[in-house]
Amino acid sequence: MLLIENATVIDGTGRAAQPNTSILIDGERIAWIGPADAVDRSKPIEQTIDAGGKYVIPGLIDAHVHVCWNGRESVPELIKRNRDDLLLEAVTTLRSVLASGTTAVRDIGGQDYMEMSLQRAVEAGHFAGPHMRTSGKLICMTGGHGHFAAREADGPEELRKAAREQIKAGADNIKLMATGGVATPGQDVQAGQLTVAEMAAAVEAAHTMGCTASSHCHGALGIKNSLLAGMDSVEHGSYLDEETAEMMVEQGAALVLTLGVADPDLDDLPAAVRTEAERMQEPLETLRAHVRETVTLAREKGVFIGSGSDAGGNPLAPHDFSMARELEELVDHGLSPLEAIGIVTRNNARILRWEDEVGMLEAGKLADFVILAGDPLADISNVRNIEAVYKNGERVNPSQRI
Ligand SMILES: [Zn+2]
Repeated sequence: MLLIENATVIDGTGRAAQPNTSILIDGERIAWIGPADAVDRSKPIEQTIDAGGKYVIPGLIDAHVHVCWNGRESVPELIKRNRDDLLLEAVTTLRSVLASGTTAVRDIGGQDYMEMSLQRAVEAGHFAGPHMRTSGKLICMTGGHGHFAAREADGPEELRKAAREQIKAGADNIKLMATGGVATPGQDVQAGQLTVAEMAAAVEAAHTMGCTASSHCHGALGIKNSLLAGMDSVEHGSYLDEETAEMMVEQGAALVLTLGVADPDLDDLPAAVRTEAERMQEPLETLRAHVRETVTLAREKGVFIGSGSDAGGNPLAPHDFSMARELEELVDHGLSPLEAIGIVTRNNARILRWEDEVGMLEAGKLADFVILAGDPLADISNVRNIEAVYKNGERVNPSQRI
């Protein structure tokens, strides 16, 4: 067994930080967690890590990411490249995502089912990466948001078939485009795209087969249409209003905020994407202002909130430390660090339907956690201050983060 001794633990359940806490790990799972002076030493402990003065949090979970795209090139350009090149670059992406503390992700719009191959390769142990849920291809109307990488479909019957194709390929979730988006030039983010009837057919197909359904939404019309269609999660939700917030609470739908993507770091930008960055600046600024209202409204109404980086979704959304950035953004939007950590661990685990295994540090769960050198409750940016990342009870090689 492995013993992590005498840490301050933020377990992801929403409980306050627990000082002087130890964690016993048996294989890939947490065997016991509790006061440091109550460790059962009757069974052999092969390795002890002294975590005195350190902080342990659950591995972060990204509920909205595009692992096949590098977040440094515009997607329509990127996908013209050789498929094998993209796949190999994505291996590096997944390794660095894991090494920066994110131990589970939900890919929410893949590339030609490469994400399924990546998921299988990680599970087989060919290289290190986070646990993965996948969605297959984006599903949009003809000419809809992200059409260059999507399965275009029109009418309820075709939507049903499109959903089943993704599930056949191995998807756990389907991703539907309910409004326009910023990453597709010339689109109105307020305008609706897939209709209620179209989305309802796809959602029914997903639910029948035990999968979840999520939709890209900025404008309130798309949010409302998605909820009328029975969507499990609304992604972005930039223009949430009173009516749609109340519908979300009533239906138990989750709002997956993607705050970093609306607030990109423009200092460190590759020259090749400057034009695209300039084009996106104005629409992103408008979105950013509304997203602040959305966060306030969602909290007031008690909407279930999740969080995703949208890394890879456009050239301003890099993968490196993307969930650390989301945590910083959540705190900047008025949440306490403890609430923000709960959203990125426990809440995201529930959105991924994985709360039995990941998201909280409890006996029986997978031993996915991050040891931090500084207190994330005092300064959330300490989630970047990583001492070690563990997935399935094994330490991740830190040199993977390049
Ligand atoms: Zn996205």
